[in-house]
Amino acid sequence: MKEINQYIDAREADIYKMPITDRIDWLINLSKRHSEIYCTPEAYLDRKMYSAKHPTLIIVLKCMDGRIHIPYATKTPMGIILPIRNIGGMFDMGWPYLGEVLYNTVNNSVESSQKVLMLITYHFSKGDKHRGCAGFHYDCEASKKHVAELKKQIEYVFGHNHQTVYPVICGFETDEDAMILHGENNEILDLAEQKNTSEEFWTNKLRMMYPDMPDRILRDLVPLATGNIEHIAEIRNSHRNLDLDTVHREWIICVGRGFDFLHVPNIALIIGPYSPDIGGPITDAVGIIKSNMTKGMIPKDGFLLLASAPYSEIGVDMARAELKSRFLGDYASEVIKKHHPDMYELMIKKTAVLNWHTRHLEVKN
Ligand SMILES: [Zn+2]
Repeated sequence: MKEINQYIDAREADIYKMPITDRIDWLINLSKRHSEIYCTPEAYLDRKMYSAKHPTLIIVLKCMDGRIHIPYATKTPMGIILPIRNIGGMFDMGWPYLGEVLYNTVNNSVESSQKVLMLITYHFSKGDKHRGCAGFHYDCEASKKHVAELKKQIEYVFGHNHQTVYPVICGFETDEDAMILHGENNEILDLAEQKNTSEEFWTNKLRMMYPDMPDRILRDLVPLATGNIEHIAEIRNSHRNLDLDTVHREWIICVGRGFDFLHVPNIALIIGPYSPDIGGPITDAVGIIKSNMTKGMIPKDGFLLLASAPYSEIGVDMARAELKSRFLGDYASEVIKKHHPDMYELMIKKTAVLNWHTRHLEVKN
């Protein structure tokens, strides 16, 4: 599968020692390859076929950590699952922009009679606590508490009877990319311990865990579970090098949306536009890059600030995306100038917009 090869190439690529301009070229090239694969007739037909069979819209709320890549881990075609990322997978439904994005997305789905499955994720590593979530200071219990609260907020907004929007809490164990499903009565089902991939088995099993789940959503959750079990087996056979997951080598700060091509561990810190306070995370992110330079993990010749906003329509939507991206880039740049003047000197800023239909990242400067 081409997508997997691309992922592994990027994961294994020794790009950390290259000069900053070469690293930026590598990154732009990675986004180009992602778009090219996304636009092939095979990928297009895969998506069409998949959504015809499984029409539920799947939204995943997750951490900015590049290792958490649900389409890859469930063998779902790219472009089916809608990711919403933020540091630590921390969200609050009271954030004006987050609320607006989720409300509009759900509303558009309902207008076309589409139900919505919302996976609320946290992540950890079973082999080493320090491969867990840096956003939660590696405290998995704290991240579980957070997702439980978030589920309550989602139910408050979209209803407790779950007939249109069904929120599911889902852990993600990054050593083997295993999903851990949390049932409605707090049962825990670790897919790393499962072998059976029959549709009938999983329909029954998930029905017991989610008694009030609409049939349509249940039938569309089944392939995520079976796909994950198959993926875990492949990861075990591939003897993944986990050292790459623990070493911090981030040299990119991304602000905005449209960074799905970047599912490479520990090269970028992605700050979503959802929280009303993005200045704090930007300052922290620059601190991490500075420390990577001091420790000699990355060259000291520069780092990249990349701002992006997606658009799905030409004209007004595209023009707004350009201004959003420019605003986010300028805002982040001012924060860095104020809080890390030494690092500001090393910054290379690029702004981009992402064409949602082709997933092409159009770099503006
Ligand atoms: Zn995390």
